[in-house]
Amino acid sequence: MGRPLNPHYERLSLWHDTVETDWTPRPQLDGDVEADVAIVGAGLTGLWTAHYLAEADPELRVVVLEAETAGYGASGRNGGWCSALFPASLPTLQGYADREAALAQHRAMRETVDEVTRVASAEGIDAQVSKGGTITVARSRAQWSRARAEVADARAWGRGEDDVRLLGREEATAVLRASRTRGATYTPDCAALHPARLVRGLADAVERRGVTIHERTRVTAIEPRLARTEHGTVTARTVLRATEGYTATLAGQRRALVPVYSLIIATEPLPPELWDEIGLARRETFTDHRHLIVYGQRSADDRLVFGGRGAPYHLGSRIKPEYDHDERVFARLYATLVDLFPMLAGTRVTHAWGGALGIPRDWCASVGLDRETGLGWAGGYVGDGVSTTNLAGRTLRDLVLGRDTELTRLPWVGHRSPAWEREPWRWLGINAGLRAMTVADAEESLTRMPSLVARAVAPLLG
Ligand SMILES: Cc1cc2nc3c(=O)[nH]c(=O)nc-3n(C[C@H](O)[C@H](O)[C@H](O)COP(=O)(O)OP(=O)(O)OC[C@H]3O[C@@H](n4cnc5c(N)ncnc54)[C@H](O)[C@@H]3O)c2cc1C
Repeated sequence: MGRPLNPHYERLSLWHDTVETDWTPRPQLDGDVEADVAIVGAGLTGLWTAHYLAEADPELRVVVLEAETAGYGASGRNGGWCSALFPASLPTLQGYADREAALAQHRAMRETVDEVTRVASAEGIDAQVSKGGTITVARSRAQWSRARAEVADARAWGRGEDDVRLLGREEATAVLRASRTRGATYTPDCAALHPARLVRGLADAVERRGVTIHERTRVTAIEPRLARTEHGTVTARTVLRATEGYTATLAGQRRALVPVYSLIIATEPLPPELWDEIGLARRETFTDHRHLIVYGQRSADDRLVFGGRGAPYHLGSRIKPEYDHDERVFARLYATLVDLFPMLAGTRVTHAWGGALGIPRDWCASVGLDRETGLGWAGGYVGDGVSTTNLAGRTLRDLVLGRDTELTRLPWVGHRSPAWEREPWRWLGINAGLRAMTVADAEESLTRMPSLVARAVAPLLG
């Protein structure tokens, strides 16, 4: 209502700026309509679900309602790691189900990385995918001992060398020449991609299959069999919530998922000589074994894209466009990048942005459908949604169509995370946790021993 026709979505991130797409918004919902399935949110969760439903049953009337534009949220802005990472650990999943189920979830995640690539290619989406795996370097004694423990733990779960392995110093620096590298862990299960190309391409692809997407159509309430908007109501047998970091803005969902910001910077395209020094010849995604998450990728146009957490959580789970920019966090990211790669000192940053992750209280993503009310959901991926949204889409397809499959038996299906604490306890706890991770990293660089702070707060943070 009263919005400009092109609200400059291309300025949201590097990815939005470098995707060839028409940003003219799709039509708003115009009055009341009936559908078989209404999906709230046109990010990857909503669009993968629409894709698999339309593929399975072309007769289904699927309507997607999006407050802004397809790919406006985390799906268009992320770090572009399409990985097999799942936010809940194997022991946590075992606790919710059993060992076999936990391993089945892990296997499903590994297969999902290839499924994303397969569908993108089948639908003619050039998401600039390169499956080079992930290298996680260890740059201190404490980090190296965590790396070794991680691989030993994987072996105890029967996960072999093809899944995750330890690299010595020489092997590690042959892949990535980060400063002070002692060794690394490496997994082949990750592809670097261009997020906005993926999500915008998927939106076009589902429309070709007959799905209707309404943009600039904010859902004001989700109720059994209906989704209300300012422009009309969609009545449907099934209504699916796919709003991730924005979920707390929906009535009745205030304490379901907290929006925690992750911020990213991207350099100008770097010359081949610099890449010869840095490595990442197969566009491996990279991070290190520190406590406060950082993540990077070499983009297809040879930029270094580098992100991390550390921005504060905002009281009342508030989300505002201005929270996407925090100059102090951008400066810290740049300093960390130059610490990792001193040869980048003075390199120009051309883009800096951020977005909200959705974090459930127990850090366990979930997907489900309540048959009685027809209400379904998927989300809580923390920072691991690029591939997990695809698994969610296939699982929601099976749940909506009433199929009993291997996917619907995975332990995250139907899982209900507890609600977050009320404010101000939520604000205090989350920000204390984020601060503790920074302190833990500083403690380790001073003491050169595994952090006691991290050990103390880990159980509270999942
Ligand atoms: C900076 C950043 C970096 C990340 N890096 C990675 C990474 O490298 N790898 C990885 O696996 N994951 C990463 N993630 C997480 C990943 O991007 C998300 O988990 C995933 O994209 C979530 O997809 P989604 O469709 O569920 O949510 P979103 O993409 O956020 O989509 C939700 C959509 O719902 C819309 N919406 C919200 N409220 C309403 C409403 N009331 N009515 C209608 N529409 C509404 C929003 O506008 C939005 O388009 C990152 C996230 C961020 C923010």
